[in-house]
Amino acid sequence: MYNKNSLKAEEFIDNDEVLRTLEFAEKNKNNIDLINEILEKARPIKYGKETHCKGLTHEEASILLACEDENILKKIYALAEEIKEAFYGERIVIFAPLYLSNYCVNGCIYCPYHKQNTHIPRKKLSQEEVKAEVIALQDMGHKRLAIEAGEDPVNNPIEYILDCINTIYSIKHKNGAIRRVNVNIAATTVENYRKLKDAGIGTYILFQETYHKESYEKLHPTGPKHNYAYHTEAMDRAMDGGIDDVGLGVLFGLERYKYEFAALLMHAEHLEAVHGVGPHTISVPRIKKADDIDPSAFDNGIDDETFAKIVAITRIAVPYTGIIVSTRESQTVREKLLKLGVSQVSGASRTSVGGYTQEERPVDTEQFDVSDQRTLDEVVRWLLELGHIPSFCTACYREGRTGDRFMSLCKTGQIQNCCQPNALITLKEFLTDYASAETKKIGEEFIKKELEKVKNESVKKVLTANLGEIEQGKRDFRF
Ligand code: SAM
Repeated sequence: MYNKNSLKAEEFIDNDEVLRTLEFAEKNKNNIDLINEILEKARPIKYGKETHCKGLTHEEASILLACEDENILKKIYALAEEIKEAFYGERIVIFAPLYLSNYCVNGCIYCPYHKQNTHIPRKKLSQEEVKAEVIALQDMGHKRLAIEAGEDPVNNPIEYILDCINTIYSIKHKNGAIRRVNVNIAATTVENYRKLKDAGIGTYILFQETYHKESYEKLHPTGPKHNYAYHTEAMDRAMDGGIDDVGLGVLFGLERYKYEFAALLMHAEHLEAVHGVGPHTISVPRIKKADDIDPSAFDNGIDDETFAKIVAITRIAVPYTGIIVSTRESQTVREKLLKLGVSQVSGASRTSVGGYTQEERPVDTEQFDVSDQRTLDEVVRWLLELGHIPSFCTACYREGRTGDRFMSLCKTGQIQNCCQPNALITLKEFLTDYASAETKKIGEEFIKKELEKVKNESVKKVLTANLGEIEQGKRDFRF
């Protein structure tokens, strides 16, 4: 029986409830009155200086996803843009993945790091190698990382992950610093989540891959990841371990996207109901080619249009949750999604263990093919030219603005008073320390224009002073 308050995976992601939702959505996909009502409900409402958004239930969002009417689609895109603008402005947060180890005991059918792959070289970074990778990342200008590792209790125990996090935070090379480490490792125990929390991690990210239990078990035939309930209940354990910010995601292509979408939102509703705070981020990866993986072997691939529609409706349904799109996607696809609600992108990613210290992109050991292969400087310039503010900000979590505190500030729109100046401060650091002459020129002009737009006089004064001090060599200011 469906129960969003239950702690049992099969009850908060109840298969019958997903199927009922999809059936209801299919029946109502041409019910234009109902669809307009749903869109109206989701519209941002202004109360004085504050902006509120109600979001949508999994049922309402699924009706929008089922609808194929061109005019409605236009309305969906316009509303997604409006919500994006209201809560995120033009800011886009940038991060990079750091692969620590590709040792893995699981048998995930779609991942080249699966245990049966005997020809792929296995590698685990030593602490010296972690240091070298981090220096390479800092020299590009990165401030936020997502660490990635296969599941292997012998080669990658929690102590190894914790050592890596300590090493990463300890390195201060030139003006560089990694100020936020997000963690994408396999589902683990409450005790281990507590250790991650104590190590100062930002978001704990775990992709569900698929919410469909039967498919999940077939796609993960061997290893600890085979256990659907243990995997699906991981975010509850993470929150019990004190981690406030968790990141959800499904790997699109494995199952029918409408099923995944409804279940993903049910997962978000469950977290909000039980822990009082929904997911901090949602990632939207699609299966890519990799060593012995052929994406066409999976029947449920989605085209770019459907993908854009999913992102736009996600933005409308969970307005306070960040949406992440990685370099699995091409520049063209990313460009389209930025407008529709994406708030974070990775840049200049290497998806192999030790990839950042190698001159050439090592194609044989990548976890997946990287479609967007531009440098970080190119990514920053591209965002600026599109009118976005590339942000390396890590202030919220360092100021304790996490979990429900972050959400309530975000819900009242107050977060904007910090985010906009912080984005400009971290952009200024990037331009001063790492940018090419061309990017620096465009960026400096951009900052000048943005500064003029700051309405709050005292914020403007402090921000102007901080920007000047960055030129004088000082770093790490934050609102
Ligand atoms: N091993 C960890 C786990 O079990 O959750 C997580 C780290 S894994 C390096 C990160 C994610 O990459 C996986 O959760 C999966 O969704 C994604 N991934 C795996 N193979 C992929 C492929 N061929 N194309 C795109 N993404 C893939």
